Amino acid sequence: MEFIQPQNVQEALRAFQKWGKKGMGVAGGTNLLPDLRAKKVSPGALIDLSRIESLSFIEAEGDEIRIGALTPIAEIAASKILQRKAPILCEAARKLGNPLVRNRATLGGNLAKASPAADTAVPLLALDACVEVQGAGSRKRRIPVDQFLRGPNQNALKPGELIRDIFFPPPKPGTKMAYRKMGLRNAMAISLVSLAVLLEISKGTCRQIRIAFGAVAPRPIRAYQTENILRGKEITPELLQACGNQAEKEISPITDIRGGAEYRRAMAATLLRRALGEALEMSP
Ligand SMILES: Cc1cc2nc3c(=O)[nH]c(=O)nc-3n(C[C@H](O)[C@H](O)[C@H](O)COP(=O)(O)OP(=O)(O)OC[C@H]3O[C@@H](n4cnc5c(N)ncnc54)[C@H](O)[C@@H]3O)c2cc1C
Repeated sequence: MEFIQPQNVQEALRAFQKWGKKGMGVAGGTNLLPDLRAKKVSPGALIDLSRIESLSFIEAEGDEIRIGALTPIAEIAASKILQRKAPILCEAARKLGNPLVRNRATLGGNLAKASPAADTAVPLLALDACVEVQGAGSRKRRIPVDQFLRGPNQNALKPGELIRDIFFPPPKPGTKMAYRKMGLRNAMAISLVSLAVLLEISKGTCRQIRIAFGAVAPRPIRAYQTENILRGKEITPELLQACGNQAEKEISPITDIRGGAEYRRAMAATLLRRALGEALEMSP
């Protein structure tokens, strides 16, 4: 197997073009190296993206917050900009893996792997984030995260494309946000259920709502039908109850070593009611 270390995006794109389907990018390696050892993948060339410094940054300019694909999860967890503008993303980053993993793992790698339990994907869905990718001929495409994640370990990248950055509009001042992760233990646990909520309320009425779940469907998902129950309505405890009931119908969890489908369904509804209730200081 060849090991290639491009120093910039153009060199990386040339390497992807040369190797086609046989070339694989590696960022932090926290997903890819275990997969290589387990012989789940056997690329002809490993293209190490970790030296491309221009893809590691967090910036808030104008009407966009942008995060480079190679930004380590630990930097996202500690970012002052994100703590102010998108605390649900910091919280998800703080709960991913352990300190060693967070120092190596990148945001782009978490999305590209497209695990149903990918922790950062859930707040990014609630923040209405997009992915900017670049491929052969330096052509760039913008893909909403909701369309980028296709299914278990499947994403919308075409051969030879890499993720450059992830961006989203900063939530309006006063927007309420909540993130919950439930695992089999408090640290170093893959999510059993995870949830992110973003809510704009004006005079007791819900003006905007985005709800995203992880680990309860083949990919992290937005719960659009559940959102429709709240949008434009005056929020009452009865409505929160109805929201939980709808969420149970909208998700499609599986039973695996971490938990049963019915348990996941019940926990997803409970976490949602509680997160909304806490954000609104209301008992569901
Ligand atoms: C002990 C341990 C605990 C973990 N705990 C969690 C957890 O709690 N929650 C969670 O969500 N994940 C967890 N993970 C999984 C992993 O750490 C994350 O998914 C991480 O964000 C992957 O990023 P990476 O940079 O290491 O990706 P890599 O392993 O380098 O790459 C993963 C995939 O993404 C592709 N890729 C990487 N960067 C790009 C790019 N810029 N453009 C295109 N493709 C790219 C690679 O080709 C590869 O297919 C854990 C892993 C370990 C080993």
